[in-house]
Amino acid sequence: MEYGGPRAAFATLGGSPTWGLGDRFHEFAATRGHERLGVHRPRTPYGLGPQVEHYRGPSGREFLRIPTYGQVDNEDPLLRASEWKAFWILWKAGVRVLLVGGTSGSCDWRRAAGDESGVRPGDLVLPKSYLTRDTMPTGLPGTELEFCLAHRVAIMDDPFCPPLADALRSRAAQLPDFRFRRVHGPEAGVVLNRWLAGNGFESLATCRMLESSGRQTGMPIITGDCVSPVLARVCGMHLAYYHVVANWGTGLEPEDPTISLNRLYLETLPAVAATLELAFLAAVSEPTTCRCRELLRVRPAEYARAMSPPAAE
Ligand SMILES: [Zn+2]
Repeated sequence: MEYGGPRAAFATLGGSPTWGLGDRFHEFAATRGHERLGVHRPRTPYGLGPQVEHYRGPSGREFLRIPTYGQVDNEDPLLRASEWKAFWILWKAGVRVLLVGGTSGSCDWRRAAGDESGVRPGDLVLPKSYLTRDTMPTGLPGTELEFCLAHRVAIMDDPFCPPLADALRSRAAQLPDFRFRRVHGPEAGVVLNRWLAGNGFESLATCRMLESSGRQTGMPIITGDCVSPVLARVCGMHLAYYHVVANWGTGLEPEDPTISLNRLYLETLPAVAATLELAFLAAVSEPTTCRCRELLRVRPAEYARAMSPPAAE
């Protein structure tokens, strides 16, 4: 199928940090000198795709934005293949650097009031790794990436591009008028329990399990939305993921006076996250010192021949 939308090497899938802007991200972007050049709704092999916004920043850099991970209001993301649609568009558009933001809870076991090193609400996290929610390694059905395991395998060290995490950290430090309580970079070894498109948050039992597993491995776990790191790697993209911790894993603790969820989501976070995203997209270049592309390993031709050949037409 032909792709009919705009092309760019940089993109963001938005996400919950900018939800409070509703459908006004472009208005906010305009105040920062980023012009929205067009709004598209490309067709994909899996049905009509999500909205694709095409921007040009003050430096002339162009980027694409697909709101909220490619999800469409009132459509079940799994049933409607929203992740395949979004990645097919980004892949066809030639995207090489993909920015994704998430929010949600911390299951850090270190939650005593004086434990300053713990991952707490109000922190920015650039995770080291993730726990998978993919039932199988993912690809793009109906394309040459449908099942490419015999040809190329994605090694999932450094799922979140380390130089891009550095770039996010330095952009976060330059935010005007706002400081995160603490920034946990990849060296902190935080693990994202990847969760996408549910109608609820994790149960108390899940959070307790993640908390105890984090204590055992020495890698604190956070929960939140992110697209498939395997799919990003298979599609040849560097994935930049930032996470703003908005609550504890089972919700805000009633005695926490510093933060309230709706105020955070509607007032504080959207402008902070949108400013961070725009500054990142306007200035970042494709990394050359990471292993993102090398970690998509080409495999010996024998492996593909070990499978049944495709049926002759
Ligand atoms: Zn990379």
